[in-house]
Amino acid sequence: MPISYLTHLKCPKCGKTYDADKVTQLCLCGSPLLAQYDLESARKALKKSDLANREPSLWRYREILPVKDDKNIVSLGEGMTPIIPLKTIGPKLGLNNLYLKDEGIIPTGTFKARGAAVGVSRAKEVGIKALAMPTNGNAGAAWSIYTARAGIKCIIVMPEDAPEITRNECAITGADLYLVNGLISDAGKIVGRAVAKHSIFDASTLKEPYRIEGKKTMGLEIAEQFNWEVPDVILYPTGGGVGIIGIYKALKELQSMGWIGEKMPRLVAVQATGCAPIVKAWEEKKEASVFWENAKTIAFGITVPKALGDFLVLQAVYETNGCAIAVADDEILKAQVDLAAAEGAFVCPEGAACLAAASKLREQGWIGADEKVVILNTGTGLKYPDTVQVELPVLKPEEDVKI
Ligand SMILES: *Cc1c(COP(=O)(O)O)cnc(C)c1O
Ligand SMILES: [Zn+2]
Repeated sequence: MPISYLTHLKCPKCGKTYDADKVTQLCLCGSPLLAQYDLESARKALKKSDLANREPSLWRYREILPVKDDKNIVSLGEGMTPIIPLKTIGPKLGLNNLYLKDEGIIPTGTFKARGAAVGVSRAKEVGIKALAMPTNGNAGAAWSIYTARAGIKCIIVMPEDAPEITRNECAITGADLYLVNGLISDAGKIVGRAVAKHSIFDASTLKEPYRIEGKKTMGLEIAEQFNWEVPDVILYPTGGGVGIIGIYKALKELQSMGWIGEKMPRLVAVQATGCAPIVKAWEEKKEASVFWENAKTIAFGITVPKALGDFLVLQAVYETNGCAIAVADDEILKAQVDLAAAEGAFVCPEGAACLAAASKLREQGWIGADEKVVILNTGTGLKYPDTVQVELPVLKPEEDVKI
């Protein structure tokens, strides 16, 4: 049975370390904590070829995931999503090697399932019985589903404007769901008061250390699926930023294990022009972002006005010579339609934003024509049925179609 080489938690800001087996939230200095592994032992224990015989889920990377005992794994078969070559729309945009990693087929329909599967499994392992979190919808849905399976009580607060289907996902699992007339930052304040008063675990983005371990598996999979030759550019729709921080962490860990070489993909944080705090910080060469007032975009999953891990997102971008770029909602909608029509991929607006961004960066010459480029589609378009507006002809039974 494979084992986890998790050793401790470490603060990326001040360096303080924590016992991983105790229930822990943020560092005393306020920074998120990151899980650390004995990568040297992991390297000796695990061969690349061992992976070939393992199940096609994110649990294939057990050695560098935090769950220690199999019996604590709460799984619905998440992970190992396909990488789809975009052979029609890629060349049309001047991108001859464009790929889509499609998270739309994962349980709950978004990559949030990765964070929830690993976060909830580890919460179960350290003995957490109840947790609360703010969400823009998809994370709440995923955590509701996995906590239901784990038998952990779950309290969710989400904006009224969040996609309606995500409410139903929370409700059907029996989670305690509250709507707030405000943004995710307002939901976060409500959760903050609740956890302080009732000593419930705060599962807010990056206030618990393990969802990032689930999300990092996107990076591990990309490396494995490209046969350990990493692509040149990875574009990621960035809200809280856990995914991009996770992908970077994964690639660094693979480097430490000697599984990939020196080369790092240039990581691109994609945001919407209606909420682009990371892009603004990157343009000003800052190390952290400033709260974005009046945030609004159809790409709801990336409507995060101020991310707790903003400095880690920016680090990932700077250290890989990446960039941050914003695209407008109309560009997102157009990219969504173009991608579906050209490739048969019905992606979410967040995923479509990455296509729009890739196209812009190609135009600017920032991406070369033959570079290997991966765009992350973080969820299925089916979760946002209302973003697609169509007018249809209605026939009487005796009328014919026009061809
Ligand atoms: C949450 C979410 C994002 C942003 O994820 P982070 O890793 O927190 O930046 C992107 N797309 C979708 C569909 C989401 O639900
Ligand atoms: Zn610290």
